Amino acid sequence: MEKLVSLCKRRGFMFQSSEIYGGINGFWDYGPLGVELKRNIKDAWWKDMVTGHDDIGQLPGAPSPYEMTGLDCTIIMHPQVWKCSGHYDLFHDYMVDCRESKKRYRHDQIQGRWVEAKGKKIFATAGSDSESPEADIERQALKFFGMRSKNADELKWDGALVSLTTVEDFDQVLGPDAKTLGTLTPPREFNLMFKTTIGALGGEADAAFLRPETAQGIFVNFKNVVDSSRVRVPFGIAQVGKSFRNEITPRNFTFRSREFEQMEIEFFCHPDSSPEWYKYWRDRRYQWYLEMGLDEKKLILREHHAEELAHYSTGTADIEYAFPFLPEGEYGELEGIAHRGDFDLRSHMEGKLDPATNPMTVELNEEGKPKHRGSGKDLSYRDDLSGERFIPHVIEPSAGADRATLAFLCEAYTEDEQPDDKGKMQTRVVMKLHPRIAPIKAAIFPLVKKDGMPEMAQDIYRTLKKSWNVFYDEKGAVGRRYRRQDEAGTPFCITVDGDSLKDQTVTIRHRDTLDQWRVKADDLTDELRKLIG
Ligand code: ATP
Repeated sequence: MEKLVSLCKRRGFMFQSSEIYGGINGFWDYGPLGVELKRNIKDAWWKDMVTGHDDIGQLPGAPSPYEMTGLDCTIIMHPQVWKCSGHYDLFHDYMVDCRESKKRYRHDQIQGRWVEAKGKKIFATAGSDSESPEADIERQALKFFGMRSKNADELKWDGALVSLTTVEDFDQVLGPDAKTLGTLTPPREFNLMFKTTIGALGGEADAAFLRPETAQGIFVNFKNVVDSSRVRVPFGIAQVGKSFRNEITPRNFTFRSREFEQMEIEFFCHPDSSPEWYKYWRDRRYQWYLEMGLDEKKLILREHHAEELAHYSTGTADIEYAFPFLPEGEYGELEGIAHRGDFDLRSHMEGKLDPATNPMTVELNEEGKPKHRGSGKDLSYRDDLSGERFIPHVIEPSAGADRATLAFLCEAYTEDEQPDDKGKMQTRVVMKLHPRIAPIKAAIFPLVKKDGMPEMAQDIYRTLKKSWNVFYDEKGAVGRRYRRQDEAGTPFCITVDGDSLKDQTVTIRHRDTLDQWRVKADDLTDELRKLIG
């Protein structure tokens, strides 16, 4: 992972935001190569899910043909949206602060063990960033009791590793980075939505939030889309855009950031066929990551157990990837696919529903009135063929563009041994990105900077540039030019040499296999189109 992080910075895939001022935790910038990579991923997703989708044919595994359309809505929305969606009430974590170390932790992520020595019993802890909590806790306990590690067997452990949430009295708790007992504050609520104010006065009545997900913009526009386009259920609305969450512990590079991009679909279908549609989307989305180059051995589809599901949902699955920063056997979420029933549309219609009720009713306040009032707009759908009116059920495939980018980067990073210009074996770093998402599709080199080779190579460059992001390089030994493109993930290098001027052919070199073959310069666009796909 360290090698990848350093390559990302060195080659301009990613930088820490505001780095010259020391950076800002949880925010990342994409450099010249990174911006192309991430854009290609979003474009591939949009093309495969929306614009390239066949609205009239029936795809394998789909219960019927369906339509797809898109939307782009604002980041700041009416505050009532977040009240009815449930984010306002529920989107929080409990935090504890340490008065001694001044650090803040998520309450449920502190782990610890009860341990006794020298007639005193304490709860020694480790934070969520600890890779080996048991060892760290032992070290912490030894230090606290002033004991040496050779006397570790004098520590009397009481029970296994448990969360801090099991401990009621914090007086005996030794915080993960503290030297004295009882420095942790009681857990406090911490809303993950970024708050802002609208207008000049800036009172509480003008408070608004940066969206923590793109999905709600789709729900509140459901009626607009149905009324303005000719879509019929089943159909999906897709949106790609920024989301913001004031994450407590942003970490693992871009995996958990405070500003990130989502690629979400809300798929509206008849309640009776929604379980089939759920299965379709779950499998389709898993397959997409494989097609884009993730290794099947590192990608899992994790179905949530029945007891983890809301009662109105018939299924939720996470697509998870074995990121290299995670311990062996652990996976991180790339995308969640959820069957959401009619929870969202009804909440925006009638008022926030209480998910604990079955059948669901609107959550009431102490006065018996809706806690969060809905829009009062009719968000039901009338099927003009059958005449039936119903509230569609929703399947939500919700992916993160930054997590996908990170997964593709992790998957692509490869080191192999290749001969250099003098035939000596050298370690080569190569980013084996799928050609569709590679930032640069091809690099064009004149073998040497004379004899008309640069002119011919520049002509080729200008022709190809009309179709793709290609790169021209005439500086240095050709072997070094290849290596630089390997690190950037460029799948094809095109070289103009002495023969090119005679027979108008050029060499194409394949990044992964290192195969080289000659093609007519005039056929390059067609040849690359076939290769890139
Ligand atoms: P997690 O459990 O990892 O916090 P989540 O279940 O809260 O994720 P969702 O609300 O389902 O995530 O969001 C859908 C997708 O958005 C996730 O699968 C992920 O790809 C992306 N995502 C969510 N939070 C972040 C974040 N803080 N940084 C980057 N991507 C994120």
